Amino acid sequence: MDARLTPVMQQHAAAKRQYPDAIIFFRLGDFYEMFGDDAVLAAPLLDLTLTSRNKGKPDEVPMAGVPHHSAHGYVARLLEAGHRVALCEQMADPTKVKGIVPRQVVRVITPGLVTDGEQLDSRSNNWLAALEIGGATVGVALLDLSTAELRAAGFSDLSAVLGELSRAGPREVLTGFATEETASSLTRTEALTALGAALPLAAVRADSDLDPAQTSSELGELAPDTEHLDPAERAAVRRALRFARACNPGSPLPVRRIVRWDPASFLAIDTTAQAHLELCSSLMGGPASTLLKVIDATRTSAGSRLLKRRLLAPLVEVARIRRRLDLVELFVVHSRLRSQLFSALSGVGDLERVSVRAALGEATARDLGLLRDGLEAAGRTVQLLEQIEDPNLRETLGLGSLPELSGDRQPVITVDTAEELRRELDLALVERPPAQPKDGAIFKRGFDHELDELDSLRRAGTEHMIALEARYRNETGIPTLKVRYTRVFGWYLEVSRSQAARAPAGWRRKQTVAGGERYTNPELDELAERIETAEQRHRERELELLATLVSRAASQSEPVCALSARLARWDVAAALADVAHRFDYCRPEVDNSSVLEIRDGRHPVVERQIAQGRFVPNDVHLDIEAERLWLVTGPNMAGKSTLLRQVALTAILAQMGSFVPARSAHIGLVDRVLSRVGASDNLAQGQSTFMVEMSETAQILHCATRRSLVILDEIGRGTSTFDGLAIAWAVAEYLDEAIGCRALFATHYHELTALSEQSQHVANYSVSAQELGDDVVFLHRLVPGAASRSYGVAVAKLAGLPEPVLARSRALLAQLENQSDSPAVKHTRPSREHPQQLSLFAPPAATPPAHAHVIDLLRALDIDNLTPMEALQLVARLKREL
Ligand code: ADP
Repeated sequence: MDARLTPVMQQHAAAKRQYPDAIIFFRLGDFYEMFGDDAVLAAPLLDLTLTSRNKGKPDEVPMAGVPHHSAHGYVARLLEAGHRVALCEQMADPTKVKGIVPRQVVRVITPGLVTDGEQLDSRSNNWLAALEIGGATVGVALLDLSTAELRAAGFSDLSAVLGELSRAGPREVLTGFATEETASSLTRTEALTALGAALPLAAVRADSDLDPAQTSSELGELAPDTEHLDPAERAAVRRALRFARACNPGSPLPVRRIVRWDPASFLAIDTTAQAHLELCSSLMGGPASTLLKVIDATRTSAGSRLLKRRLLAPLVEVARIRRRLDLVELFVVHSRLRSQLFSALSGVGDLERVSVRAALGEATARDLGLLRDGLEAAGRTVQLLEQIEDPNLRETLGLGSLPELSGDRQPVITVDTAEELRRELDLALVERPPAQPKDGAIFKRGFDHELDELDSLRRAGTEHMIALEARYRNETGIPTLKVRYTRVFGWYLEVSRSQAARAPAGWRRKQTVAGGERYTNPELDELAERIETAEQRHRERELELLATLVSRAASQSEPVCALSARLARWDVAAALADVAHRFDYCRPEVDNSSVLEIRDGRHPVVERQIAQGRFVPNDVHLDIEAERLWLVTGPNMAGKSTLLRQVALTAILAQMGSFVPARSAHIGLVDRVLSRVGASDNLAQGQSTFMVEMSETAQILHCATRRSLVILDEIGRGTSTFDGLAIAWAVAEYLDEAIGCRALFATHYHELTALSEQSQHVANYSVSAQELGDDVVFLHRLVPGAASRSYGVAVAKLAGLPEPVLARSRALLAQLENQSDSPAVKHTRPSREHPQQLSLFAPPAATPPAHAHVIDLLRALDIDNLTPMEALQLVARLKREL
């Protein structure tokens, strides 16, 4: 203890010692104050003025404060900046203790442990990830305190972990190491850097080492659940729990079980594919044009969280997928039931999170009101479905059985327990209880006799005051005399300045204000005291009743969460059915076959962005055993990327258990979706585009299996023509011969189409365009065979290249095409033995060297990325060269 500090600052120092990583919000009356380094750090982030405490004294410290009732906005901003905030509260009523009020940290809020509804995105989970790196397995635990969910899994290496974490999108990552070196022999710093780079939105921190001796005490009642976990997974779980407990010293954690998830039971969508396919966020940023956005018609928060999770982690088990599809189909067929369900569900709100806040002891009266309303809507929903008699429908809906609860430690969930709680809440609470007790009544009259009496007392007191005012006016003859109350001054008598002389001698002057004089007298003081006491006791009784009700709600939090999970499944199925109905999706046939056949398939997002009915549907038929690799050619803007992406999105939708935008679809299970798109599409990142492109391609070739779906859009574009073509060629060959997976390969290298002559598994398709004079019309229709030409000049015209440049380009093109008809540069089918026969590699013997150079320049030209000025300069240069 530092004797130079005042007792209050000693309390602060103790809190800081206990939570050195957190900014301490130290409660002093109506404010949270920050001191020392915390104040210096936070003041600029929160636009606060930095002042100081004990100014001029030896223990002067910087200080900044925020009003306690508006604290959560400030807390949110500090979390946003990646900080942790410890709330150090007054543990007793300052008016009742002699000397210094005891203070204690009751809660540390960190980005990964937010439970406040206003700070959470209701449509996403808020994960804290804890990692244990070092052994043969990397253990991962994901904890969402706001929904009381805890999941664990093990991975063979850090890169697999990164892929998994990027789908979960944790807000905070705690990284611990079992040994000095990590499994992939990265140092601790390297591992942390890799995590930070892969998860730009998360606060990534190194956590202290775990003490192996403490295992069971830290796991508490969850210990039995961890028996089937790998040691690294158990360590990760311990790390998450230890952290959450340390941050919530005042309340037990509401987590009741650990769900182990096996990464192999989900369709892997690599990080790049998640981004390129714009599943949950678009490349331009924001959720505007994402797949999630177009399929999320859910009515409850838990439903929309579940939908998002399913979209990012579709299944790879036929039976489970079919069960989900059955439920969607049920709601497609029974459209009346669907709309009834929707209207019942729309009152459910966020039952899950409200109930977990109760379990954490953090629920406000307002939360309890929401819980009551949510339970009522939930009851209506269950009743609606319970009326159904058809046993098949009941089975599909999961009624009667409780598949979500397994294991003997789970209590039996009945709607009755929830109904009982709803009735209790309903008896107690007013229609709209306030978040803060000071903002109005919480309890109905008649609910608690004592509370009603205290209320009558304080009301009687106030009426007494009004009577007193009338009497004093009479007695003094001051008609403007007023009895008033303010929070700071309490009750007083106010007399205007001109009348002040008439105030009785026995009155004590309390304060002089602009409008007049303020007085008190013994009679007023005594009455004020009686009112204050009644107020105080009323407040206490209200808080007492509230605490009882919160703990009642807490005791039911587990069944309520189970009920919410059940509703969420119905919600998701009905939402997908609604989308299927409105946008004409079909039920996909999913099995273990080798095909991927889509008839009249559409891109679910693009079709909504263009005029209705304008999207041109296309057929795709890939088969591992037959044509598995399609080379797709066609001019820029014809719709190649759209086609590629729509195939991947259709497979993802089907395997998450959704209907798909097509006339029919047959999906033989896919185990991974891997993709990479053209270099020019992520130029913004400012990295060497070719390097990025190649490392993404490398990743794909390493991860793909025979069951994967690979989508490659314009690879090799980031380098010179020869290199690019050579690499694209080799990659396509490798995909076909070494991996043998289903793949779509869009390319502008027409030479590549010769691959189909080399392999029976490769086929050429093109997205057609039609020439009308010098113009081009995109038909967006996929047809067999390679594109005959690239329409580059026509596209250049569309883009606004000046007419003289276009004319000159046409002339040059004609010339070049004539030359390439000469035998020496004729396209020849390359073979493995004679790769030098590939046209581009052929020596330009028949062409004069200057011409050859001009041809090379033109071939290497990326018209898409050419400004009109550059085009003109190029034409000038070409002319010079000739
Ligand atoms: P590419 O990859 O061939 O350059 P894109 O796939 O980017 O072409 O498509 C260009 C534009 O054409 C898209 O933004 C979309 O508006 C439109 N488009 C693509 N496919 C279709 C289609 N099947 N039906 C209607 N419009 C389409």
